[in-house]
Amino acid sequence: MKEVILCKYGEIVLKGLNKSYFENAMLNTVKRRLAGLGNCEIRYGQSVLYVDPLDEDFLFDEALRRLKKVFGIVNVIRAASCEKTLDAILETAKAYLPDFLAGAKTFKVTGKRADKRFPMTSPELSGEIGCALLEVMPGIEVDLFHPEKLVHVEIRENAAFLHADDSKGAGGIPCGTSGRALLLLSGGIDSPVAGYMIAKRGAVIDALHFESFPYTSERAKEKVLELARLVTEYTGKMNVHVISLTKIQEELKKHINEDYFTLLLRRSMMRLAERCAKAYYCEALITGESLGQVASQTMQALGVTDSVVTMPVFRPCIGMDKEEIIAIARKINTFETSILPYEDCCTVFTPKHPKTRPVMEKVLAEEAKLDMQALEDEAFAAIENHVIKLY
Ligand code: ATP
Ligand code: MG
Repeated sequence: MKEVILCKYGEIVLKGLNKSYFENAMLNTVKRRLAGLGNCEIRYGQSVLYVDPLDEDFLFDEALRRLKKVFGIVNVIRAASCEKTLDAILETAKAYLPDFLAGAKTFKVTGKRADKRFPMTSPELSGEIGCALLEVMPGIEVDLFHPEKLVHVEIRENAAFLHADDSKGAGGIPCGTSGRALLLLSGGIDSPVAGYMIAKRGAVIDALHFESFPYTSERAKEKVLELARLVTEYTGKMNVHVISLTKIQEELKKHINEDYFTLLLRRSMMRLAERCAKAYYCEALITGESLGQVASQTMQALGVTDSVVTMPVFRPCIGMDKEEIIAIARKINTFETSILPYEDCCTVFTPKHPKTRPVMEKVLAEEAKLDMQALEDEAFAAIENHVIKLY
């Protein structure tokens, strides 16, 4: 008996004439992610991507684990494949499915016939499989309305497939189909989640981290690189750029009204981010901001920081509560790393009374006290680049 993996598409199915563009992007991602796990054939057809192991020592479980993190796939299914004859299907059902049904009291078979040339209808075939399973599993019963376990049979172009195991995939659309965006990645909870959410919509993600050494430590930077690595479980690869804000922060501290410190720093961060984005071919910025979460995330403060850039700024967490962001952080396994207690550049020299309703003229007047362009040129010239690769 042969076991294969069926990956069911999500939204790609609806893509009409562009469908093959998305399918090829997903195929290439899957090929890269499964490299090194053993010989297998990877192909797509009829809105399913097939992974067909070609030798015994193919690392099947690891392949399943990795496929669950490929965007564009909504279900990752391990299935037995066999010839499209009733005899072969019943024999395979009896040999393969009892393991999945063990311990269950009731089950139901559902059928799908993508190949309409197959001589039986789906209900007829399902009925036959149900009877065959009852023969080999005396303790179990069929329940068509509230079954404990569902068993599936699919008749597709090349073969028949039987399965009872239906794991959720990562959803979204394939990596690389939406352009490249630059994530402002802090060591906090929100920004890795924001990066994940935009990657899920098909964007390739670069990250930019601002450090403030020696006010922030080497270990704080390592934590951020680890967060980036955790996000690459979904994106495969990430360039991480690091810019030091130390001098900018020291100059702001020395020369401007303290209440405007965070706002001016964030404007500087956005300008540097846009510069970095352009240098590394990114077309949008991503931040983990959430409306009203802190002083710099009021509507007025966001207006003041946004006005220094022309690129789109994506803030996927903007309407989310902390609890909702944390739920995603836990799901993508960044939460435990995010809460490690290291300092962030934004917490260095924070003012006691940050402006929550800043007035643009006053912001500009404060900013004019310094040659921000020269300071930013210097910071940008010292940019540090890391490449994080999953496999
Ligand atoms: P996070 O949990 O992502 O750190 P936060 O709620 O702590 O967010 P802020 O510290 O105000 O909020 O930062 C808002 C956003 O600004 C972050 O989500 C991130 O996108 C960006 N940001 C903050 N600090 C840095 C940094 N050191 N490097 C790069 N981006 C940063
Ligand atoms: Mg933060």
